[in-house]
Amino acid sequence: MSTYRTHNPSTGRTVAEYDGLADHEVDNVLSRAVEGFHSWNRWSPARRAEVLAAIADEFQARTDELARAISEEMGKPLAQAVGEVKLAASIYRWYAEHGPALLASEELDVSGARENAITVEPVGPLVGVMPWNYPYYQVARFAAPNLMAGNTVILKHASICAKSSALIEQLQRAAGLPENTFLNVYASSDQVAQMVADPRVHGVSLTGSERAGAAVAEVAGKNLTKSVLELGGSDPLIVLDSDNLSELVDELGRARLSNSGQACNSPKRMFVPEDLYDDFVAQLTDLYRSIEVGPASDESTEMGPLSSEDARDGVVDQVRTAVEQGAKLRIGGDPIDRPGAYMEPTVLTDITDEMDVYHDEVFGPVAMVYKYTDLDEALRIANDTRFGLSGSVWGTDADRAAQVADRIDAGMVYVNEHGTTRAGLPFGGVKASGYGRELGRWGMAEFVNTKLRRVS
Ligand code: NDP
Repeated sequence: MSTYRTHNPSTGRTVAEYDGLADHEVDNVLSRAVEGFHSWNRWSPARRAEVLAAIADEFQARTDELARAISEEMGKPLAQAVGEVKLAASIYRWYAEHGPALLASEELDVSGARENAITVEPVGPLVGVMPWNYPYYQVARFAAPNLMAGNTVILKHASICAKSSALIEQLQRAAGLPENTFLNVYASSDQVAQMVADPRVHGVSLTGSERAGAAVAEVAGKNLTKSVLELGGSDPLIVLDSDNLSELVDELGRARLSNSGQACNSPKRMFVPEDLYDDFVAQLTDLYRSIEVGPASDESTEMGPLSSEDARDGVVDQVRTAVEQGAKLRIGGDPIDRPGAYMEPTVLTDITDEMDVYHDEVFGPVAMVYKYTDLDEALRIANDTRFGLSGSVWGTDADRAAQVADRIDAGMVYVNEHGTTRAGLPFGGVKASGYGRELGRWGMAEFVNTKLRRVS
């Protein structure tokens, strides 16, 4: 039996240990999820929507407690943690409001029969494998549409988020979600594979690394189980021009440091035209020198620790390797010498395609700035990546910027903002960033049976 161990990355101390799921309990979990499904899918969409709205209320009412739990477990500064709880609540609320209409049957205008109806039915128990970087938001993206649709959910959250995942289960029960509808399990990777391979499971959604995504998708594929994957990204951000460079640098620089840079859709690579480049890099370096790095619980903290010392060491190694390979380190690059998983905000420039960081995702507080003279060349490099999650273009002419944004190979492109997430907008990528979509009506279309009834 595996053990889930949580640490506080702001202090380096172990917080708690949780017994993992025993192998003999896996079968029981699956049976309970089936039992829950047989009851939950018979509830009317309107009744299910009432429960989702109550879950949103519960998130809101417990914002402070919930925010503190993730701050402690994965190091998110409190103000950002509060924002995440509100975002999770907004997702449950959106599906409560729009879910019944999205599930309504539809009559198609096709000749040759008295009726061509489409009904939308749930498929059954699903497994969600979720990461630590946004412990509530990531689960909400998967759970809210699928609970609304009438599916049941087995959650295997990141092991470093054992308390926050238990809180999600608990608050949903308190809001009226029936027993066996959402089951939080402290499962190992082997147990996840066993569940995904079981015919009682009808789908799996994973957010995390390419390695974990490929492992889970392999089992799903072998067993003809539908999967959705939301993996990494190395999002490009292209600056065209600016009428206020200092404001722009402040906004973009801080966006990169949000959540200590640990977001799949963080603007990891910034492309800046030659005429702005020197000032951009100088101002970004000054900004990063001024950033207050500290414990997640301190109100003055602008950037907290990374999620763990291992994660921090990995990012520090990536920066060291980049410098050995010829990249210029403008600031940062080192761990901060105090207990916890702290790292200096970092700026790297002069990156070429012979360096590992050109190709890999850097999941930490590292801005990589590229100088360009030719926009076509900037776009070529922006797209020269195995990832394709999102990208953005910034400029004073929004129409021109939108045309440039259309040339980025990604699931989501933005103009004069980066990575905005809203309950009603689809979220997901192409290439190695994964497949399938979450949120909005697209997020509810992944794990349902879109059923035709044709009556002659
Ligand atoms: P992982 O992909 O290892 O973890 C994400 C989730 O997958 C966790 O719940 C983890 O469980 C689980 N998991 C890992 N391996 C397997 C497996 N073989 N079968 C089933 N479940 C599995 O991410 P890391 O925490 O190791 O982070 C590494 C990298 O992943 C980051 O540097 C980043 O590139 C990417 N990542 C991307 C995220 C995104 O938002 N797209 C979020 C987090 C990470 P457990 O915690 O028990 O290992």
